[in-house]
Amino acid sequence: MNSRPCWVEISTGSFQNNYQVLVQSSAADAADARPVELLAIVKADAYGHGLALCAPAAVQAGARWLGVTSVEEGVATRKFCAEAGVAEPEILVIGGPFPGQSADVMAHRLTAVVWQGWQLDELEAAARAVGCEAGTVPVHLELDTGMSRQGVGTGELDAILARFLDGRSALRVGGLMTHLYAADESDGEATREQLELTARMVERVLAAGLKPEWLNVGNSAAVLAGIVPRELLSICDRFGMKAMARPGLALYGLAPEFVPDEPEVVSELRGKLRRVLEWKTRVVSVRSVEAGRVVGYNGTFVATEPMRLALLAVGYADGLNRALSNRGAVLIGGQRAPIVGRISMDQAVVDVTEISGVVAGDEVVLLGQQGAESITAEEHARWAGTIPWEIFTSIAARAKRIKGVEQISA
Ligand SMILES: *Cc1c(COP(=O)(O)O)cnc(C)c1O
Repeated sequence: MNSRPCWVEISTGSFQNNYQVLVQSSAADAADARPVELLAIVKADAYGHGLALCAPAAVQAGARWLGVTSVEEGVATRKFCAEAGVAEPEILVIGGPFPGQSADVMAHRLTAVVWQGWQLDELEAAARAVGCEAGTVPVHLELDTGMSRQGVGTGELDAILARFLDGRSALRVGGLMTHLYAADESDGEATREQLELTARMVERVLAAGLKPEWLNVGNSAAVLAGIVPRELLSICDRFGMKAMARPGLALYGLAPEFVPDEPEVVSELRGKLRRVLEWKTRVVSVRSVEAGRVVGYNGTFVATEPMRLALLAVGYADGLNRALSNRGAVLIGGQRAPIVGRISMDQAVVDVTEISGVVAGDEVVLLGQQGAESITAEEHARWAGTIPWEIFTSIAARAKRIKGVEQISA
């Protein structure tokens, strides 16, 4: 059966290009091609790009670690990678396991991020239930170094470390993780403080007698701005650990916006990233209206002259943010068509008066390029007063993700 025409095309080659750009940018020098392990963040259905396509693509690009939010996403990632026949990645569950999920963590060999005692209780019980020996199940212990979201603070550190010190636990601290909350602030002040605290906490973990292999720090902003290859590697050298970073957004072709201004190195790398996603629909029908006619709910748009209007098969239930009503635009025939009136749940109307020859069935680009024009997730985010992450992850599941052209040119 043909489906309603609202779909997303994914260029896995662009995604892989972006992974490579980050690998090269995080190499300390040309001789050492990969001192930092880049875990590819594919949470939230790969930022709305489709986990089934992006998880195997990341592995093919060289990612040995993938990061997901939940155990459910981890299980799905295992399945998609197996179906695609790619090498088995390590899968980090960055949101930690929820109650009752530890058996699945074990069964699917996921690596859990942990910071609470009950998580250790449940993982320990699940590990024993399947006969794991002492110290054979790695977890990443999250340190709260300032974000106050997840992780153990300095005051709780000793108590949680004690859980790993009796030599009997099946669990082992395979990595220490923390999250930088302001890596996109170009003065670097908050990040410097967080990294100093990270180093002090790492020192305490080692002093307690634990030997975590990984120090796992940094999002796209931290990788692009060079914090990861510089500061993270120097902490790792000091403590004999291996560096891991966790870029997300940049893999999907966008660099975060830096404040107050963008470091030069970021601008350079931004130019090398390629868009991965195109979001499309079609014209359902075209009508002419005379001046004075209202358009959409509550008549928030009134035709100022005789106009041609095109109805589109996309609405806010597909993820087209309602804040784009009377503000956003789409591409038809390589030109911008303004959205007029309120966006409905499943439909939207655009003004095609200035675009000749528009007929039912014409392809419409919501995000992406058509002819010489393009509309980015950053532009949608400005229109809607939000961030590009939310634009991507709002594209509804009912918009099918399919493979598009291999690479979108820069
Ligand atoms: C989402 C997330 C990331 C990736 O962030 P980007 O800004 O998209 O690169 C990294 N680490 C954690 C803990 C996250 O939640």
